[in-house]
Amino acid sequence: MRKVVKFGGSSLASAEQFEKVGEIIRAESSRRYVVPSAPGKRFRKDTKVTDMLYGCYALAEKDQDFSHELQQIKERYQEIIDGLKLSLSLEDEFAGIERNFKAHAGRDYAASRGEYLNGIVMAAYLGYEFVDAAEVVFFKPNGEFDAQKTNEVMGERLKKMENAVVPGFYGSNPDGSIRTFSRGGSDITGSIVAKAVHADVYENWTDVSGFLIADPNIIPNPEKIETITYRELRELSYMGASVLHEESIFPVRSEGIPINIRNTNEPDNSGTWIVESTCQKPRFVITGIAGKKGFCSINIEKDMMNAEIGFGRKVLQAFEDNGISFEHVPSGIDTMTVFVHQDEFMDKEQNVVSALHRIADPDMVDIEGDLALIAVVGRGMKSTRGTAGRIFAALAHANINVRMIDQGSSELNIIIGVRDEDFEAAIRAIYNMFVLVQL
Ligand code: ASP
Repeated sequence: MRKVVKFGGSSLASAEQFEKVGEIIRAESSRRYVVPSAPGKRFRKDTKVTDMLYGCYALAEKDQDFSHELQQIKERYQEIIDGLKLSLSLEDEFAGIERNFKAHAGRDYAASRGEYLNGIVMAAYLGYEFVDAAEVVFFKPNGEFDAQKTNEVMGERLKKMENAVVPGFYGSNPDGSIRTFSRGGSDITGSIVAKAVHADVYENWTDVSGFLIADPNIIPNPEKIETITYRELRELSYMGASVLHEESIFPVRSEGIPINIRNTNEPDNSGTWIVESTCQKPRFVITGIAGKKGFCSINIEKDMMNAEIGFGRKVLQAFEDNGISFEHVPSGIDTMTVFVHQDEFMDKEQNVVSALHRIADPDMVDIEGDLALIAVVGRGMKSTRGTAGRIFAALAHANINVRMIDQGSSELNIIIGVRDEDFEAAIRAIYNMFVLVQL
């Protein structure tokens, strides 16, 4: 058994957290490859080291004094080193960082030092070998991640190592300079390492015990999702449920490696399994509910629209020409509705309306704002009769007017549009109908 274990920032924010992580790693000898984030928040109002580094570098870039800011970052690491009673000095590392900041080594270089230094601390603490991610994670000249080269070089390098620490979040460009993934990108590194070493499991340790069926800010203590497929996860994360970086599923998915989301503060909880496919029956018909507010619907009517070839294309062209992406397009015989993000659309709305008239010649265009979209996702829906009926019964009982319904042909999800102000009540009604009644 071979596992890659990635620990998020809050799991490594202090010496106490490091100790929990140490216990977790030592509990199973299969936990051989460790991917740390930079130290995160120790308390709610705290600042992540990554953000401290961005702030510090912003001063360096303007050739202003950044010694105070760098000192604060040093102290974050020193607190951890002292707390763990390590005989490790980062003095030389910090001297190098200071020099490189002064030489304007770049924002990505600056941000990456959070993971880099934490990797050094982690390797010293565990007695594992340290592998600088710049030597094993590569980007192409156009800035895209170079999956093939990375997999080859990293696979070769780690094959020879029983244990190793590979810091998350960054790699190197062809010219050797440092480049980071987008924020939260250590999740991606973990997945890349899991693929390169042919891991049996990619464990992603964070501060929640996996994915919850619904947002805990709306549903108090929602039930946990035990197992979710990659496709279901895509649908839910797209609609705002975030625990894992979206791009992190691709490397492991191509190898069929499952991801296990775990909680550093509650290591006995089995967390959530993210898998390619499963015959395990979900506990409830629905796997999860997620949603977002702030959508706008543009309702376009034209008599005999259904008979006019190319009408849909013309409508969408009006949006494309204005650089607006659409979310959903439910349609009827003489109507077509386009859902867009309100904040993207607002400034351009009149341009879109005139483009619609010019290109598609509709009878009427009607715009409605302040709408929310809710995705009810579940692989179990396909084989269960009456799911849509139950959703709408729940919403009707809660006195919620449904403005739009869209069921993907995969039967993996049903999207419902409601008014922004009904958003929370709608989620509660659906949760009660599918989860609470069954407990
Ligand atoms: N430290 C980086 C961030 O705060 C990357 C990560 O934690 O995954 O975004």
